[in-house]
Amino acid sequence: MGAPDIIKQHLIDPEICIRCNTCEDTCPIDAITHDDRNYVVKADVCNGCNACLSPCPTGAIDNWRTMLRGEAYPIEAQLLWDELPPEVPLPDLGGETETPSATTPTGMAAGPDTAIQSVETSSHTSPRAPWSAAHPYVNLHGARAPVAATVAGNYRLTAEDASSDVHHIVLDFGTHFFPILEGQSIGIVPPGTDASGKPHYIRLYSVASPRDGERPGYNNLALTVKRVDQDHEGKPVRGVASNYLCDLAKGDTVQVVGPFGTTFLMPNHAEASVMMICTGTGSAPMRAMTERMRRNMAHFNGRRLLFFGARNANELPYFGPLLKLPKDFLEIHFAFSRDPATPRRYVQDAIREAPGSVAALLGDANGHVYICGLKGMEAGVLAAFETVCAGAGLNWSEVEATMKAEGRLHIETY
Ligand code: FAD
Repeated sequence: MGAPDIIKQHLIDPEICIRCNTCEDTCPIDAITHDDRNYVVKADVCNGCNACLSPCPTGAIDNWRTMLRGEAYPIEAQLLWDELPPEVPLPDLGGETETPSATTPTGMAAGPDTAIQSVETSSHTSPRAPWSAAHPYVNLHGARAPVAATVAGNYRLTAEDASSDVHHIVLDFGTHFFPILEGQSIGIVPPGTDASGKPHYIRLYSVASPRDGERPGYNNLALTVKRVDQDHEGKPVRGVASNYLCDLAKGDTVQVVGPFGTTFLMPNHAEASVMMICTGTGSAPMRAMTERMRRNMAHFNGRRLLFFGARNANELPYFGPLLKLPKDFLEIHFAFSRDPATPRRYVQDAIREAPGSVAALLGDANGHVYICGLKGMEAGVLAAFETVCAGAGLNWSEVEATMKAEGRLHIETY
């Protein structure tokens, strides 16, 4: 008798999924489908390639069940679920389960064990929040029951002559319960439909204000939104959600889902030190965390470092207010890539130029790192950490593994 055909079946958690369609869009082999109720994975098509894992905004996509291939849940069953079924122990197969045959339908040696591992090796971000993070609420409002927020303010942050149009948008939730923590994001449901007549996807935006509101005591929050008017290749486009948001007027209502995010959360213990590295609108969660600490300065005794990259000062959201913060509260390193007055620098250059502060924080058991901004910044920043560690007698691979395991290394790029 041959070895039993055991698979790790890829499933989507219907309780967490926000039905944003990202996974279905991303899957290169059409293994994901949906109806009005659920997004589901076809066990006979999924090859465990993982392409859908990192784009998923909520992590609902990353669920697996070990089972005999013949007993895989069909999509008809998955479409009816309100929650994931529990892991069921495999039947006693006379010791033959030792054969690891988590193969794909095409016989490729992928399978979810590889899938999970490769997510961890390709992604450097911690799978968990810092131990002292507050407990986040997530997914209180899904796409079928968004909450209406009112625009309390919408201001351009970047200089009028700057090439990027970044807005600070304050949303008021009135009497709706919509609690957020620094580092979480919310989903915006753009009105209308796309070219094929389907409702637009939800777009995610990091919250830029601390948990007690943009204005303390008010049930509101702030976003930092960049108007997308050209795509990543520089071709002119009109980004659906960012233009909608940047054009909102005070008093307009916006459909919001969320909150989302369980790991990119700040530590709350007094000894924690925080290094924040960002470009552009990646500054939103950093503003939220910094403001939380500024409002509670007596509690936060650790150090704060900020590496902030932009083309030049005119393009930096929150540049003015940042400069007003006390130097002993926040150590700021700017990196301007297109400033006629200074040589071209990126955040990774600024990190290499501050080896003392960086190595001290990376070597500190209470040191926490947050990286947010453009996709592509991650590799340069991690390479800079390696250089700085080598110069300080630290082994970056070991430091990184420890930080990841302890929920102290967080990366969010988009
Ligand atoms: P779309 O209509 O979706 O895209 C139009 C075209 O522009 C497409 O070709 C697309 O590939 C391209 N494109 C999309 N985004 C960009 C971009 N940023 N630069 C250049 N080309 C682009 N955005 C913010 O402004 N502020 C935030 O705080 C923020 N936080 C985010 C947090 C998370 C966790 C994630 C996943 C994303 C976040 N984003 C943020 C990005 C945001 O969700 C949207 O992707 C972005 O606003 C573009 O949406 P759009 O509808 O305007 O463009």
